[in-house]
Amino acid sequence: MTEVTSADGELRTAKLAAETRLALLTALVDAISVGVILIDRDLVVAQWNKEASRLTGIPAEKVLGRPASVLGEAIAPRVEDFPSVQAHLQDAFGPAAISEFPITILEPRREIDISVSPAVLPSDGTQIGSVIVLHDSTAARELERAKDELIGMVSHELRTPLASLVGFTELMLDRTFSEEQQKQYLGTMLKEGRRLTDLINDFLDLQGLEGGYKKLDLGPAELRTAIARAIATLEGEAQNQIEVDLPKDLPLVMADTNAIMQVLLNMLSNARKYSPEGGPIKVSARVVDDLVEVSIQDNGLGVPSEALPKLFNKFFRVASPDRRQISGTGLGLAISRRIIEVHGGRVGAESAGLGHGSRFYFTLRVVPADATSGDVLLVEDDVGFARLLEAELAVNGLSSVWAPDAETADHLIGQIAPRAVVLDLMLPGGSGEDFLARLRAAKGDGLPVVVVTIKELDVSETLALRTSGVVAVLKKHSGAAKEAALFVSEALTRQVRR
Ligand code: ADP
Repeated sequence: MTEVTSADGELRTAKLAAETRLALLTALVDAISVGVILIDRDLVVAQWNKEASRLTGIPAEKVLGRPASVLGEAIAPRVEDFPSVQAHLQDAFGPAAISEFPITILEPRREIDISVSPAVLPSDGTQIGSVIVLHDSTAARELERAKDELIGMVSHELRTPLASLVGFTELMLDRTFSEEQQKQYLGTMLKEGRRLTDLINDFLDLQGLEGGYKKLDLGPAELRTAIARAIATLEGEAQNQIEVDLPKDLPLVMADTNAIMQVLLNMLSNARKYSPEGGPIKVSARVVDDLVEVSIQDNGLGVPSEALPKLFNKFFRVASPDRRQISGTGLGLAISRRIIEVHGGRVGAESAGLGHGSRFYFTLRVVPADATSGDVLLVEDDVGFARLLEAELAVNGLSSVWAPDAETADHLIGQIAPRAVVLDLMLPGGSGEDFLARLRAAKGDGLPVVVVTIKELDVSETLALRTSGVVAVLKKHSGAAKEAALFVSEALTRQVRR
């Protein structure tokens, strides 16, 4: 009686151990991010993990514990070219060989690499089943295809100007031409050479943005100034009247000023390029919730409705007779879209059709209130140096707010109360000295200011800065950020003591 009970107990313990092992194995197989299917030696489906269900669309209940032949029936309507998949599967369960083949699952389309290998007993090598592993390679294949397509497009685009350059060079070496003809050919060559340079530069820009290695430096930015600067950069080219209409209280946006200048330049120069008859261009902005939308409206050639969704694609150019003479790379808007997307914004275009002008727009996020508080205001256009200053000030326990130009700093001064300012004198647009005067008028003489500049200052200039309450004038060099942070920290400590 006791013996039977103990044998019973052992049996129950062994059963429990086996169940536990199976449960652990199932949990392990389910946790793996590849599809795993086990077929036992009686050709019955013994394991079917979650990923196998996700990849094939076949739930475990439909196949688990059933003959492997149901697998064929279940998968037949879901796979491309079933006969060849079936042939592969039949071969795969043959004697101890590893078999690998790709399959394509339909709706949603997935490309899956399958490998089938025998499961053997370690003691004597007897085959006790087969392991099928399913690996989803859809994303990798798509990336490969996109890369190939891009390389194809780029080589095609580069070939045209290159062929023209080589062709004209050969022609001029082979024959003698009048001076006038030579000039004309050289002019064409120069144009094609420039186009080649533009293509390569644009392409590298785009690759940099897409590869993620061209990092943008986001900080509070004044759009009014960026727009004015972009328009000033375009001056000198064919004149269209550019009207700027911005709301008075346009808030600061979170942006990399240089990158936004590139977007503005692209959209403004397009507005000009594609308005060959001239015609006014209007730059406007409006605030929608926590976004600012900037629009560039022209009265030029317009865009046909079927082209609108493709305008921001790489190398897309509208093919119409009226713009055959207008040169371009078809990459500008693709670059603009990428830049705006990295900012978390959106781009778009509207047009009432050919000949009816167009409106291109982009959105940027308004600077959130908590991003404009800090102990020290850094007015510095050199992003690298600004970041270094930020780090050195942080070492001294001070937080900072960065303004890339004097206009953004003006805006910030109206909004925040910094305890100190680090100021560069050579700024794009308004000078540092002028900003200092405005700062003193707004905040009085008490605010400590440290000047860091590459500008060669003579004695009278340094003296003028000193008399307007600048606590230190430092020459910009590698250690200057650390020195500036120390001067700021000391000035603030002195203030507290007083
Ligand atoms: P491109 O170097 O060709 O100007 P973009 O990427 O800047 O390249 O623009 C793509 C295409 O969009 C242009 O070729 C042009 O056909 C169309 N496009 C862009 N801006 C305008 C505009 N303001 N008016 C009409 N068409 C435009």
